[in-house]
Amino acid sequence: MTSFSADDRAQVLQDASLQFWKHIIGIVWLALAIHIVLFGLFVALGITVLWVANALSIVTYVVCLLAIGRNRFQLAGMLFSLEIIAHAIVATWMLGWDSNFDLYLFCLVPIIAFSFQTAPVRRVLLSVAIVLVAVGGFALRRHMGLAQGVQDDLIDIFGIVNALTATGLLMYATALSVRFTLSMQLHLYQSAHRDSLTSLYTRRRVLQRLRQMGGERQRGCTALILLDVDHFKLINDRHGHDLGDVVLQQVADSISGAVRVTDIAARWGGEEFLVLMPSTSLAEAGVVAQRVLECIRARAGLIEGRALVVTATLSVTVIGAEETFRDALKRADGLLYQGKEAGRDRVMMAAEAA
Ligand code: GH3
Ligand code: MG
Ligand code: MG
Repeated sequence: MTSFSADDRAQVLQDASLQFWKHIIGIVWLALAIHIVLFGLFVALGITVLWVANALSIVTYVVCLLAIGRNRFQLAGMLFSLEIIAHAIVATWMLGWDSNFDLYLFCLVPIIAFSFQTAPVRRVLLSVAIVLVAVGGFALRRHMGLAQGVQDDLIDIFGIVNALTATGLLMYATALSVRFTLSMQLHLYQSAHRDSLTSLYTRRRVLQRLRQMGGERQRGCTALILLDVDHFKLINDRHGHDLGDVVLQQVADSISGAVRVTDIAARWGGEEFLVLMPSTSLAEAGVVAQRVLECIRARAGLIEGRALVVTATLSVTVIGAEETFRDALKRADGLLYQGKEAGRDRVMMAAEAA
């Protein structure tokens, strides 16, 4: 089993927190807007305790947004949680159980679970607080509703609006959590399957695609192009590693521009590239390889103000129905070596019967 270092875990948590709050920040803005409306309403109704409580809530949400902006995610999570719990207590205490202010407690559950995954004591304390307020509020419901002169109709309106808003928020928060999980998975997939320098596929993606093709390969022929940049070490030595990187990106662009969307163009190693071409004959792959080479030659010349000659040696073969990818790769490697020996800057074709 893979073991993760403390540093790996801290890095993953930091990235995940950043993504999570990026998704959830809309809810904090919504909460701020709701409390501004409630503040105005309670000022109009003359319920001092509630407008003061809402003024404090507004300040809390502003600080919460500032904390998110500064990547202080645990502080943001704590402020958000305490505000909702305190607001549920005060509003239920003043307006009664029927006003449904306790329902907002349940919107907190996913936020607490995420924000305090590495702080079990705070997670448990906040979870217990939710249970106590929800159960305690219900048990003491006959002693709640201390605000004087609030009509039953108004309490009904609060009850309906709060039930609608809290349920909507919970659905929205859940949808955001799902979207967050998917975006994290896509991000991971991208890191594992795309090379960070060239954006081509990685060796891992080629091997995965070959496994997926399995039986498919028995039916149609799959071609393989292997490409190695010529004298690349010299380019690095003469012009520096950074310019070497730019050349690799250009070579990658030349490859991407020449292949079809169904082909898998990958960075196979340092300055070595591989293209897997399903349902492609040797001759068709040969045409593509020639096009790639011409494009690499044409794009060289002046790169970032320096005169450069960039060429590559390519080999083309097909993976026979009865042979493994490894065997075909070995053949392509051998051809590439012959191409280097013969003077580089050329396309080497395997024999048709291979
Ligand atoms: P040949 O024509 O025989 O292929 O010669 P070569 O110089 O291209 O081959 P060699 O294997 O001797 O050198 C490859 C060089 O590629 C060495 C390595 O430092 C460089 N390289 C590998 N990965 C990268 C990279 O990501 N960026 C840069 N700039 N250089 C890289
Ligand atoms: Mg090489
Ligand atoms: Mg090379």
